[in-house]
Amino acid sequence: MRCPVCGKGDLHRVDDIMSEIEGLAFVERGHRCSACGEEFIDPDDSQRTIKVARRLGIWGEPLKLHRKLSPSGRGIVLRIPEDLRRSMSLKGTETVSLAKIGKKRVLLEIEPSEA
Ligand SMILES: [Zn+2]
Repeated sequence: MRCPVCGKGDLHRVDDIMSEIEGLAFVERGHRCSACGEEFIDPDDSQRTIKVARRLGIWGEPLKLHRKLSPSGRGIVLRIPEDLRRSMSLKGTETVSLAKIGKKRVLLEIEPSEA
């Protein structure tokens, strides 16, 4: 099978595709491209992961939210979407820490409140 992403590599059967949801690792079967490394998870297995994740209560929220940054004064503001705010019970007064991971990723962590 030819890889639909790069069109160069062949898809090989693998059983070690890792998906991470909320810090938990799920191993799934599927295909991996020999050239670009793109992974295609079997629909059955991705359904199973979703089912398990739902049961654990870690599914149901989008894994990735796209937000636009807005310039403000000398800094940049990132708005937290309302549904995320609600699901994390944020008041908007929390202290957060930002950790830079590589060139294009930032991990935002809510610090435990002192109260
Ligand atoms: Zn490919």
